[in-house]
This record gives sequence, C-alpha cells and structure tokens, in this order.
Amino acid sequence: MVPDQKIKSTTILHMDNFLTITEARRGLKAKEFSAVELIDHFLQMADKHKDLNAYVTVDREKAIAAAKEADSMIARGDDLPCLGVPIAIKDLFCTKGIRTTACSKILSEFVPCYESTVTNNLLRNGAIFIGKTNMDEFAMGSANITSYFGPCYLRYRRKSSPDVKLVPGGSSGGSATAVASDLCIAAIGSDTGGSVRQPASFSGIVGIKPTYGLCSRYGMVAFASSLDQAGPLTKTVEDAAIMLKAMAGHDPNDSTSADVEIPNYPDYIGKSIKGMKVGVVKEYLDGLPDEVLKVVEAARKLLEEAGCEIIEISIEILKYVLPTYYIIAPSEASSNLARYDGVRYSRRSEQTGNVEDLYANSRSEGFGDEVQRRLMTGAYVLSAGFYDAYYAKAQKIRKMIIDDLINNAFTKVDLLLTPTAPNTAFGLDESNNMSPVEMYLCDICTVFANIARVPALSVPAGLSSDGLPIGIQLIGRHFCECDVFRVASAFEKAVNFSELRKTITTV
Ligand code: GLN
Repeated sequence: MVPDQKIKSTTILHMDNFLTITEARRGLKAKEFSAVELIDHFLQMADKHKDLNAYVTVDREKAIAAAKEADSMIARGDDLPCLGVPIAIKDLFCTKGIRTTACSKILSEFVPCYESTVTNNLLRNGAIFIGKTNMDEFAMGSANITSYFGPCYLRYRRKSSPDVKLVPGGSSGGSATAVASDLCIAAIGSDTGGSVRQPASFSGIVGIKPTYGLCSRYGMVAFASSLDQAGPLTKTVEDAAIMLKAMAGHDPNDSTSADVEIPNYPDYIGKSIKGMKVGVVKEYLDGLPDEVLKVVEAARKLLEEAGCEIIEISIEILKYVLPTYYIIAPSEASSNLARYDGVRYSRRSEQTGNVEDLYANSRSEGFGDEVQRRLMTGAYVLSAGFYDAYYAKAQKIRKMIIDDLINNAFTKVDLLLTPTAPNTAFGLDESNNMSPVEMYLCDICTVFANIARVPALSVPAGLSSDGLPIGIQLIGRHFCECDVFRVASAFEKAVNFSELRKTITTV
C-alpha cells in the first residue's frame, strides 16, 4: 500500500481488467483514478502473483514517487503519451540506481549509474517503471529457464493438464508474463533472435522487434550487437505503436542508431489495408504442427477478407537462416561478454590465485551453462583456422539473405506472414529436458527478421486444441513499421482474440 496516501477504490481498477495504455491515459485524464492509484494497483497485482516470478526487482518507493510526480503533471495539464502509465522493464536495460542483472550471477550486484536511452525515452514520455523483469541469462534462451533468479511462469495452463506449470517462452519471459497476467500495463524486452515475439506468441499478447537501428542499444546489456533490438510487449497493437513511438529515435551514443524520422505509429492503427500484398512464406509452413498451420491458414483468410492480396511465395535461402544465426550470435556474444572478467567489472570469484585463475573462476562461477555453451561456440568459430569456414561464411550468407529479401520477396509483396513459433508454451520439465538444438529450433521463424534487420510483429491469432495462445508474425520492409502496425491492427480487429482469451485456463 502507498504509505501516506489513502487509495480510494475505483471501479476500473479491479483484478484482471487488462487495462491498456489508451484506456489508462483516458482514465487518468478523466480523473477516474490517479497515477498513484494505478501504480498501487499494479504493485498489489505483482505482489499477489509473486509466485510467477515475473519481476526480479521492484522498487516500490521509486515507483510511487514517480506516480506522485505524474499526478502533479496531470493536474498541471501536461499530456505525454505514457504519462502515469506503469511499465515493466526487462532486466537488461540499465536503469539508473536500480539493479540491472541480465539475470546472471555475474551481474547480480550491478547497479548502473546511468540510464539506457530506451528507458530514458520512456521516462521522458511520462512512463512509470514498476520493476525489472525476469529473463533468460544474458537473453540467451527461448523458455526463460536459464535465469539466475529461477524460471518465470505463465498464468495460463493447458486444458488437458491444468497442473503442469508452463513457461512463457524467452528470453523476455518476465515481461511477457507481466503483461499477460496484468502485472503492468505494458513492458519492454529485447529481441536478438525472437525474444520479444516468441514469448508474446506464447502469452497471447503483442510484441514487435523494430528495424535494426530504430531503438538505441545504448545502455542495453549486449548479447549480439548486430542483432539486438529493443521492442515493446503490449496488450494491443495500438499500445505497441504508442510504446515504439516513445522508445525509438536517433541516439549519438549508439553508432548503429538510425538517423531517421520516427513516424507517429498510432496514426496507422485502424487504417484500411485494402490492396496491401501479403506473402505467405511456403518454407515456414513445412513440417509445422497442424494446429499452428490451421491458425496461419485462418489468419490468411481473415487478411484476405479485410482486403489484402495474399500471394504464396518461396524464399529458398531461409533454410540457412537458423545456422547463420547460431554462428553470428554466439560469436558476437563471446566478444561482448569478454568484459566480464571480475576485474574491470562484474562479480569476482573468491577463489583467486594467479590472474588467469581469477578470470577463469569468476567466469565459470558467474555464467550459467547455456551462456558458457554459447561463449565456447563463439570462441571456437572465431578462432584462427575456423574463422573463414564459419564466421566469415555466415556473414556472407547473411548478406545473401538480405539481398534475396530485398530483390526477391519484397518486390512482390509488402509484408510476409509466418507463424511466430512452431509451438505453444511448454511445461517447465519439458523445456528442461529439451536438448540445446531442440531449444534453438524454437527460433526457426523469428531469427530471419534479426538476420535481415527488418521489423517483425507477433499478434495473437488463435488457440491450440489445448487452449494455449498461438501468434502469427508479420514481417515488413526496413523502416516500414507503419505497414506492419496497419495490417496487424486490422488483423487484431478481425480475429477478436480478446474473446478467445476469456476461454484460456488461468490460475
Ligand atoms: N532464443 C534465441 C537465442 O537464444 C533468441 C534470444 C533473443 O532474442 N534474445 O539466441
């Protein structure tokens, strides 16, 4: 509870109201509730559902102080897109004075003295940070099971086995769970190979990875720098548009940040999609489970009815995308994570002998198994003798993939339609028993957009026979987020997932 302010009960702030940014902003402006009441509600929700392990750090005092400030700004008549809106932050964005761990033991005591550009942009737009969310260690994973703070859980259960705890996908699993379980209004995550979109698909929410360079990477704990992008996870497509507009923008602190005008994405919500060409990618339908295929098929029909022209296309080079990703990403990770040596910064082992022992012990104690696996793979493919055979080759293939996309697929269609993931949320035990390669295969549909640096959005599209969410992915041309939002919002309206959501078994 807020210590020095009595919270009056409101009708809108009841359990599981699934309040969106648009609704929250309207309610705040109409004085139906205050920003302090709103944050208090979500702090209570976060507390009530602690067992989901969505948050690894919650700073109540800071959040309430920010809400008070927002209330005074609202009283003064200020109007910012996220003013007073409680947002959850993946624990990989540096937040000044708030612990930022990337859910790794090696960073478990790190309190940044600066703010990441993306979180700073959100603060400038009036957002209130409720807490830092759980994730796979250093964002490496597809199940949120490699976190130093333990796994994160979905509130959803399978109809056939309601006792089996499910994980929300990864690596932004905490952010996805926080949004889907109504422990915040919206959240941010990072997406190197699908970490915003796959958990969004598992959790029945919206997630977008923007074009590489749209959001600054300054102050984001690096995993694979040529692939990493920040992205929002939200309850609606409109909220994703509001969030992305608030997060994006040129930043001189990131040399890969794009100096482009950021359109007002919310303007594209609800616009007609008549005549837009959407390509259904044949390669992504091969070998998929029937229930995922059915949802993609239904999505294709809905888009057709809404006025899109659907064109079947083939992108043969897609078969090389996953291997290319799993060479480039570990290579960049092994270089980025070299800085955690217990000397320059990061946790230091107590077992220090000579300097080599100090490095080795700090790193082997501080990094979990999956991170160590990636670092070894990366060091191997970058080492003399293997560099040309693996890393240089992967870079050439990446170039071919991008050229093929621009010169082939995107000359025929405006957007691509694919499933977001080949599966629905898995049980904790099932994911623990998956081999690394089986886990990597979960990224089969998502890594393409990172390798090609194009925007891709996951929007809820249906339920499996066991009642779990399935998302579809819309992939656009470089910097054509507007097209993606436009088609996604038309689809969202047509599919009416909010009705389906009510039928999901929830704990
Ligand atoms: N699952 C992918 C991986 O483990 C993607 C991770 C991400 O997007 N951060 O590499």
